[in-house]
Amino acid sequence: CGIVGYVGDQPALQVVLDGLRRLEYRGYDSAGVAILTEGELRLAKKAGKLTNLEKALQDEPGRFDGGTGIGHTRWATHGGPTDRNAHPHVSSDGRIAVIHNGIIENFARLRATLEASGIEFASDTDTECVAHLLAFEFAVVGDLAEAMRRTCIQLEGAFTLLAVEAGQPGRVVGARRNSPLVVGRGKGENFLASDVSAFIAHTRDAIELGQDQVVTITADAIEITDFSGVPVTGRDFHVDWDL
Ligand code: GLU
Repeated sequence: CGIVGYVGDQPALQVVLDGLRRLEYRGYDSAGVAILTEGELRLAKKAGKLTNLEKALQDEPGRFDGGTGIGHTRWATHGGPTDRNAHPHVSSDGRIAVIHNGIIENFARLRATLEASGIEFASDTDTECVAHLLAFEFAVVGDLAEAMRRTCIQLEGAFTLLAVEAGQPGRVVGARRNSPLVVGRGKGENFLASDVSAFIAHTRDAIELGQDQVVTITADAIEITDFSGVPVTGRDFHVDWDL
C-alpha cells in the first residue's frame, strides 16, 4: 500500500519510518522494514499499526543503523494480515528483500514452478514469488537492476516493487507497472516512494517513472531503464504544493 526507499547519509530507518507515517492516511494492516547494516540485510515486520513495528525496533537498538533501506505498509490482498505475511519478503538465502504494492496476477503459477524447483515459501502472499525470482535471476546475472528487469517481464498484474541485496549496500532498485513510483532527488541522498508525500520533508525535486520502467538509486545517481534495459528519462517535476 505504501512504499519508501532511501540511500544516503541519514539513518535509513528513521527516513523510512517517517515516510511510512506520511503514507498512513492510505490505510494499512501491517508494516515492515529492511535496512542494510554491516553487510547484512536486517528485517523487522509486524501486523497492525506502525507503532507495533516501532516498539519491536526499540527492543533492538543499533541493529538497524545503516544508510540504505526500504519500508512498506501493507493492505493485504493475498494472505491474511499477519506478521509472516507482512513485507518485506526475502529470498531463501536471506540476501534479497522485496516490498510490493499491487497484485501479481500470475503468482499461483510462478509459485508452483518455484516450489517444483525446491523452494519453500514462508508466506501466503502473491509477493513472495518475486523475492525468489529475483534471487534466481541475481544468481545468473549478478546485478540487481538486471535481475529486476528479468523478473518483471515474468510478472502479470500491477506492481510497484523495491528491492535491496545484502552485498550491494548503497543501492535500492525499483520497478513499476500499473502502480505509481516516484524518485526524490536529494543532495548526496535519493528517495523512492509510492507517493511524493513520503519524502517531501527532504526534497521537492522528483521524477515520475513511466510504465514498465526500472530505477536504481545510489546516494549520488539515479538510473532509469525500460524492462529491456534501454536507458530512459523519467518525467522531472517540482513539488510546489503543500501537503
Ligand atoms: N498483494 C500484496 C499482498 O497482499 C501487496 C498488497 C499491498 O499493496 O499492500 O501482500
